[in-house]
Amino acid sequence: MKTSFYQYPLSELQELFRVHGLPASGPGLLFNWHYKKRKTEPCLTDLAKKSIAFVAENMTFDLPMVHTIQASSDKTVKFLFELQDGLKIETVLIPFNNKYTICLSSQVGCAMKCSFCHTGIQGLARSLKTEEIIGQFTESQKWLTKNRPGDDKILNIVFMGQGEPLHNFDAVKNACEIFLSQHGLSVADQKITISTAGYLPGLERWKNEMPDVNIALSLHSPIKEKRDQLIPINKRYPLEEVLNYVQAIPRGKNRFVTYEYLLIQDFNDSDEDAHLTGKLLEGKNAYVSLIPFNPFPGTDYKRPETSKVEHFKSILDSYKIPTLIRATKGDEILAACGQLNSKMSQVT
Ligand code: SF4
Repeated sequence: MKTSFYQYPLSELQELFRVHGLPASGPGLLFNWHYKKRKTEPCLTDLAKKSIAFVAENMTFDLPMVHTIQASSDKTVKFLFELQDGLKIETVLIPFNNKYTICLSSQVGCAMKCSFCHTGIQGLARSLKTEEIIGQFTESQKWLTKNRPGDDKILNIVFMGQGEPLHNFDAVKNACEIFLSQHGLSVADQKITISTAGYLPGLERWKNEMPDVNIALSLHSPIKEKRDQLIPINKRYPLEEVLNYVQAIPRGKNRFVTYEYLLIQDFNDSDEDAHLTGKLLEGKNAYVSLIPFNPFPGTDYKRPETSKVEHFKSILDSYKIPTLIRATKGDEILAACGQLNSKMSQVT
């Protein structure tokens, strides 16, 4: 049975070539051809004849197909991709200063059931394969190059789309290795961020297995009862334990852990919530990303007033915690944080 070329980190491809007695130069050449030169047709020029035959016989180069594209007036682009089994996932390009952050999905739906998240109510269909994660990047990049020439650089990669990335640890890890490879997409490690709701089995593996990329933790409340309501896995993997693992992840100089805090009106936006958050994160090399809630069909949660968001930030500032209010982008096409739902996109 053929396997996808895009599932292999360079080290695994090298091992495959070694086991089959093929020239050692092949994997680097293939990475260069398909990732650096962005070619989708098979590489027939630089490879040795027996490598070409091996690749033709054993590998596919299929990628997820773009099903629908929606662009909003703020230049956010949402892709609905169709996978080979007909399931669909969403990917978002978020613009900033003529460049883009790509928000990747790691699963079809999600098992974590966070109450503030449109994906959470979709449930989990399955985890994505490495090639389905890589394909979101390469196909989005291709679209940008064609449709927004000169304005097409993807600078940051964030695993903040559909799914809990650490619930699909191996595929996400392999995708990161491909993104980081100097022979491949050459993305700098500080430009990749994996966001987790606090999935402890994945955090336990991170320290020894994950490449040196950034971590973001969905905090959303330091108060157990509230966090339980927002992120049900908090009941199984309590915040104190999660924080211990997150803090133990080795980080380069000047690298912070990002704590995401979704602000919901009259739920977790009080002065008390802010002070407890400040006390929890004080001295922890933390950076807080404040996200005013993005409504989606069927939710009772509401977005707080801007003045309330700014006041919450000022309290965190008093604890000397760097805090940024994340600008809402793409909400008119349900592409903002927490709004993705590929099932709904199929019927609209
Ligand atoms: S917020 Fe993330 S982890 Fe939680 S349900 Fe949504 S996609 Fe899953």
